[in-house]
Amino acid sequence: MTEVDYYRILEVSRDASGAEIKKAYRKLALKYHPDRNPDDKEAEEKFKLINEAYQVLSDEEKRAIYDRYGKAGLEGRGMGGFGNADMDDIMDIFNSMFGGMGGFGGGFGRNRRNNAQHYPLDTEMEITLRFDEAVFGCEKTIDYTYKTYCKACNGTGAQNGEVVTCDYCGGQGQIVMRQGFMTFAQECPKCHGSGKTVKEKCHTCHGKGYEIASASVTVKIPAGVDSGNRLRVPGHGNESKEGRRGDLYLNFYVEEDEHFVRNGNDVYIEVPVFFTQAILGETITIPALKGKLELQLRPGTKDREQFVFEGEGIADVHSGRKGRLIAQVKLILPKKYNEEQKRLLEELQESYGVESHPHKSAFESAFERIKGWFKSK
Ligand SMILES: [Zn+2]
Ligand SMILES: [Zn+2]
Repeated sequence: MTEVDYYRILEVSRDASGAEIKKAYRKLALKYHPDRNPDDKEAEEKFKLINEAYQVLSDEEKRAIYDRYGKAGLEGRGMGGFGNADMDDIMDIFNSMFGGMGGFGGGFGRNRRNNAQHYPLDTEMEITLRFDEAVFGCEKTIDYTYKTYCKACNGTGAQNGEVVTCDYCGGQGQIVMRQGFMTFAQECPKCHGSGKTVKEKCHTCHGKGYEIASASVTVKIPAGVDSGNRLRVPGHGNESKEGRRGDLYLNFYVEEDEHFVRNGNDVYIEVPVFFTQAILGETITIPALKGKLELQLRPGTKDREQFVFEGEGIADVHSGRKGRLIAQVKLILPKKYNEEQKRLLEELQESYGVESHPHKSAFESAFERIKGWFKSK
């Protein structure tokens, strides 16, 4: 019997990295996949062999045994028994690897994480701005906190800096799970991949490896920022063991204004207009971002009519180009009237004659038609 060569099956060199092996497996498994080779016994056998080779070479321990003692070495350690694998099992695992979250994106062959850094260096915080602060820009002094490595334990989280090999994974940094005949490597949940745990938690930082420091920084916030915008403040994030500071990101939230409604760089304002003003037309003064504007109502202004003032909106945070101010009319009708006003209104109504009863001419033909519907019965 000839000795199988898993490296040759996967078409990789003997010193191939985990990533190369995974890539080769993916390529070949797809090529010889039974779906692509229906009723092809040879392809099926090849597919099984590829899976077997991958199972061994993707597992550091098995690969080491195989390199020294061959397939017989694995079987001698109870790690063999590949040949009798059921095709359905192979397909289940294959599908779960290609389709699921734990597929080729992670798991096998992942480089062990350099776990010297227990926290990311960049930080972020939300900053609430008043409407005017966002529109015109401002300078703000921001109090913030950041992480700095614990000097007492040198960032290890261990009392006196004493670290021991993780007992959960035996220092491997990953644990191997079995599913059928396939194995899946996962990051060790106890040591998070470092392979080391602390013997006794540091008394100063309680095992976290860092302490919280606070500081403040004065930031110039540009005109035109809006909710959802981010500003990077370099060098004010967390501090690494080497003394390097990450960046602080400010996420803005802009409060609403009592009168102005913002939409991008445009700003809306609702202008209450009495019905007589709307009918007669009038020039009225309205508030604007930079003081006042004159709004010329034309005679017969309608409810919700919009008047646009170009360049009176908010400066674009990048280009500085100004948006528009849009004044929208809100027509106001009188809620009550006195005897004198009633008389005037009736007089006005009369003076319009037929025009004052537009529904009459509009519905005349409708009434005639409806009458016809009932006569014809
Ligand atoms: Zn500490
Ligand atoms: Zn561990």
